[in-house]
Amino acid sequence: MQELSHFIDGKLVKGQSGRFADVFNPATGEVQAKVPLASNDEMAAAIASASQAQVAWGATNPQKRGRVMMNMVNLLNRDMDKLAEALSREHGKTIPDAKGDVQRGLEVFEFCIGAPHLLKGEFTESAGPGIDMYSMRQPLGVVSGITPFNFPAMVPMWKMAPALASGNAFILKPSERAPSVPLMLAELMKEAGLPDGVLQVMNGDKEAVDAILDNETIQAIGFVGSTPIAQYIYSRGCANGKRVQCFGGAKNHMIIMPDADLDQAADALIGAGYGAAGERCMAISVAVPVGDETADRLIEKLVPRIEKLKVGPYTAGDDIDYGPVVTGAAKANIERLVQAGVDQGAKLVVDGRGFKMQGYENGFFVGPHLFDHVTTDMDIYTTEIFGPVLSTVRAQTYEEALALAMDHEYGNGTAIFTRDGDTARDFASRINIGMVGINVPIPVPLAYHTFGGWKKSGFGDLNQHGPDAFRFYTRTKTVTSRWPSGLKEGGEFHFKAME
Ligand code: NAD
Repeated sequence: MQELSHFIDGKLVKGQSGRFADVFNPATGEVQAKVPLASNDEMAAAIASASQAQVAWGATNPQKRGRVMMNMVNLLNRDMDKLAEALSREHGKTIPDAKGDVQRGLEVFEFCIGAPHLLKGEFTESAGPGIDMYSMRQPLGVVSGITPFNFPAMVPMWKMAPALASGNAFILKPSERAPSVPLMLAELMKEAGLPDGVLQVMNGDKEAVDAILDNETIQAIGFVGSTPIAQYIYSRGCANGKRVQCFGGAKNHMIIMPDADLDQAADALIGAGYGAAGERCMAISVAVPVGDETADRLIEKLVPRIEKLKVGPYTAGDDIDYGPVVTGAAKANIERLVQAGVDQGAKLVVDGRGFKMQGYENGFFVGPHLFDHVTTDMDIYTTEIFGPVLSTVRAQTYEEALALAMDHEYGNGTAIFTRDGDTARDFASRINIGMVGINVPIPVPLAYHTFGGWKKSGFGDLNQHGPDAFRFYTRTKTVTSRWPSGLKEGGEFHFKAME
């Protein structure tokens, strides 16, 4: 059995706590590795060492730091296949999906090559006689990221790239369910030229997270995961005086207007609802057709498409639509919620229950499900299922559809499918959700914009990646300076001397 490590001071280091978690191969259901769970003492030592390493890294000029980011982009491209394979083996997603996971992280490194520009301050000449004023962005010191299982490459990179490019040392606590790729990323960062100790990858569970929350050296925490844990980390981290941003769960609605291209909408729902087995925070889990005729026609188009979906292990080829879910516990939770949907009266139009993958009977595969006539009081509507289950809630008017999405407690992403510009514009303007797609089902902003949900999908002031990430991982210092010579002639000395 493979025993995974932490990555401390530039090398892989075995865990000392004696505590481990199982890492599964979701396709076979077998335990393929054990990941160490760091103790409070191991966390404290890694954080202290990062703090020492940060001093020189923070003083390194931003262009040099940017070059490390550039090297990392090249290494990620070089190792794309290797990373994708390792990722699929632990997570279960298809190889094209795994490459997308790496690619979306790589793009944030690309953005961070521009660190010198992004960290530039502001300057006011002659704010008073002989007085200049300037502000600069400085790293915070040691900062951290706590990340989820569903994007084991992308989310850690969203956090580490801007934090490191800004001159911080970074403690990554990845998901214990998919820990291999984050360790590979750390080794690549070393190869890219990052000094030892500046990036520490500490595997662990609640004990490691609490060590981050309570450690006085940690200045900022960027968290991505489920909403209950996001709320816990946000409140305890803030109470300890840290800068905290937490991104939580989702229930993303897609509104389908009667004038929409229904083939396009159905295709979009297949990719957004069932891709990656629904284990995406930007997955569409609720379809809201407006009018019964739209709903009937949409269901008619969805059913044959769903029945054609190819479920299988990532090794079966690139034409697989989605793989297993991450663990047996995740599968059991999805099955429980599907049963609740049936018991509470929703119509199960496509029934994926009892799905077995031939040759992989112990794998965590879940068949695709489609519900119709879902109502807002049902568990399948109120809860994030995080599986291949699409719920249809019928609305009679645009206003009713809009209100549904607005009233839901989550506010990560949403989409509207329509041919009408007025409706699309009204939707984008009024909706209380962070990321909006117009005829685009998964509107994930690119690296140079920012990513973040509203309501119970996001806690804290700033978004992830883009310019916000540099604001989050730096603090502004403003200097006012006066030089006596500038005072000699009411501040005109400098200009006279120039003539
Ligand atoms: P999770 O909340 O179970 O775990 C996230 C992190 O928190 C992991 O590193 C885990 O070790 C740690 N953690 C778990 N339980 C903890 C506890 N009791 N105390 C302290 N730390 C704890 O989330 P997950 O299942 O890994 O990821 C799926 C969730 O993440 C979904 O809800 C999904 O919507 C969400 N997500 C959100 C975004 C976003 O940007 N909004 C992106 C990706 C995933």
